[in-house]
Amino acid sequence: MPSKTQPDTKLSVAVIGSGLGGLSAAISLRRAGHQVVLYERYDFGGEVGASLSVASNGSRFLEEWNIDIAAAKPVVLRKLIRHDWKTGEIQGTYPLGDYRERFGTDYNNFHRIDLHQHLKHAATSQLGEGVPAELKTWHKAVDVDPELGRIKFENGNEAVHDIIICADGIRSAMRERIGVLPRIQPSTSCCYRCIISADKLRELGLDEYLSNYAIEFWGGDGIDKIVLSSCSDNNVVSCYCFYPASKNDLREDGWDISTTGENLVATFPDLDEKLKTLFLNAEDIKMWRLYNHEPYEYWVRGRCALLGDAAHPMLPDQSQGACMAIEDAGALGIIFSDQYSHLSIGEQLKLYEMERKSRATKLQEASRRARLDLNERIGWSSKADKPGKLTIEEVCGYDMHQHVAALVAGL
Ligand SMILES: Cc1cc2nc3c(=O)[nH]c(=O)nc-3n(C[C@H](O)[C@H](O)[C@H](O)COP(=O)(O)OP(=O)(O)OC[C@H]3O[C@@H](n4cnc5c(N)ncnc54)[C@H](O)[C@@H]3O)c2cc1C
Repeated sequence: MPSKTQPDTKLSVAVIGSGLGGLSAAISLRRAGHQVVLYERYDFGGEVGASLSVASNGSRFLEEWNIDIAAAKPVVLRKLIRHDWKTGEIQGTYPLGDYRERFGTDYNNFHRIDLHQHLKHAATSQLGEGVPAELKTWHKAVDVDPELGRIKFENGNEAVHDIIICADGIRSAMRERIGVLPRIQPSTSCCYRCIISADKLRELGLDEYLSNYAIEFWGGDGIDKIVLSSCSDNNVVSCYCFYPASKNDLREDGWDISTTGENLVATFPDLDEKLKTLFLNAEDIKMWRLYNHEPYEYWVRGRCALLGDAAHPMLPDQSQGACMAIEDAGALGIIFSDQYSHLSIGEQLKLYEMERKSRATKLQEASRRARLDLNERIGWSSKADKPGKLTIEEVCGYDMHQHVAALVAGL
């Protein structure tokens, strides 16, 4: 079990992967006073053109870390709207009206690329608390030694750190290097995503989607579901469109498989005509396969810990994957703060796993249920009409500082 010689020694931390999770970890740990190096396999941390809603459990940390949220141009969500699949008529609305009062922050809907850029700036900038994280691109990690804290890279370089945070995404290779062998089942669902500009929507007479400040749903009883929202200061509308995998037997993997608006329309023949018009005029239409991962047995080994999708890949139906990655990062910042520096590194990493694993697993399971039933999605599920249903209060009202303190008291 790794230990520190001095209780207040500042640590040298490696973060493998500079996606939303890795960057958040770098911010949180630099603010806690540690020296962070981010290793990214490419020359950038790639993000895709799509929306990303960050509920208060994620936005709370963005605020705590002084991220310039307004500059990242979010649309602040005010409600969830449910439409009739065929006519588009509004069937139900869940108002989020007093959200900030209830949960302490706004429910922010970002363009993913905007948020990624702002997190990267906060992690590496000379401004802000702590020492700026160093970003080393073209450093694809190929092996880790969890006991020695050693990383080997494809380019031949090696590095040794006190802690290694593996934030290398859903297809994490580092996960297997620490002995976690995922059990993965292809989901019965695939998903298209596309975006369309506000100017184009106005041209098409579809500007109604620009003024709702909402996440809007069509379907959701079963596999078929369209999720539409506006982001980037209402200049971009983004759609996720879920459909049965059996329709095109997509076997390729990745975020970058292109398709056409015609294909999208053909997938949903009896859908609201307004959405079909939107699809035919959309840009950047991609599709991807969805997978179910069983929760992993452990997340921590020696000096290594998994974070984000590498630790808890989940279906997107609670819009919580990135929020959970931000929470993971928040937990590291708290646990590796001066307040808990009397613990050894091994104890701190175990505490991280204890704090995070059960909550993230709950979200993983609730996301799987929500894949086929919109009434399981937080917001729509808030009435807790069924035992075990996850509620918006549980997710958005979470106080991690208190939870960590309670866990430490019980150690
Ligand atoms: C359709 C869909 C919609 C979603 N919507 C939402 C939403 O609204 N709200 C929300 O909270 N979440 C949402 N999510 C989930 C969210 O996108 C992910 O959970 C989040 O992006 C995961 O971030 P990450 O940093 O863990 O992984 P990634 O973003 O995958 O980042 C991994 C990084 O590691 C790098 N890397 C990989 N291997 C190596 C290596 N060997 N060495 C070095 N670098 C490496 C990669 O290049 C990448 O930069 C959605 C997901 C999907 C699929």
